[in-house]
Amino acid sequence: MERGKLIIFAAPSGSGKTSIVKYLLAQHLPLTFSISATTRPKRPNEEEGVDYFFLTPKQFQEKIVAGDFLEWEEVYAGAYYGTLKSEVDKLLEKGENVIFDVDVLGALNIKKIYAEQALALFVKPPSVEALKERLKIRGTECAESLKRRIDKATYELSFAPDFDITIINDHLEEAQSDAKQIVLNFIK
Ligand code: 5GP
Repeated sequence: MERGKLIIFAAPSGSGKTSIVKYLLAQHLPLTFSISATTRPKRPNEEEGVDYFFLTPKQFQEKIVAGDFLEWEEVYAGAYYGTLKSEVDKLLEKGENVIFDVDVLGALNIKKIYAEQALALFVKPPSVEALKERLKIRGTECAESLKRRIDKATYELSFAPDFDITIINDHLEEAQSDAKQIVLNFIK
């Protein structure tokens, strides 16, 4: 059986990346979401084993030592996120295409490993100002976390040229339909 492909979405927090990934997953395309592991607390709307595998810092550390991660990052101070090799291999071997919602460095690491089998997409907010507004509206962050996310976003924007494709999320519906076309072309 032909191995599946990897579609990797990365973006600064608040760029609308997750909305685009969720939209694609609702389109009945042959795509399976890569469920990451994280040590950050579960949000009220999230489910264990659906949005993330929520691990304690100790459990996460043990998996690092065991070499269980394809990649992992301390995305925010004290908050670890990682892609489990076993999850991804299982899906790719079944011939499934896997879609990732990861941070910028994680995305570039996965792209480096899988090269032509992977498509790395960068979702860009129209401006840093727009991004600030989106994060405030989402209302999931405290003031300190908001500042950290914005500082990080500014840094992450500098990596856009390293990606295969950049989608500018000015109007979400357009960005979603652009993303769908790009993904369909890649997996056909
Ligand atoms: P959130 O806490 O908002 O769910 O995610 C924070 C950031 O971590 C997002 O940019 C998300 O894409 C990223 N992220 C989620 N899972 C992974 C992962 O497995 N690896 C890496 N490197 N980043 C991840």
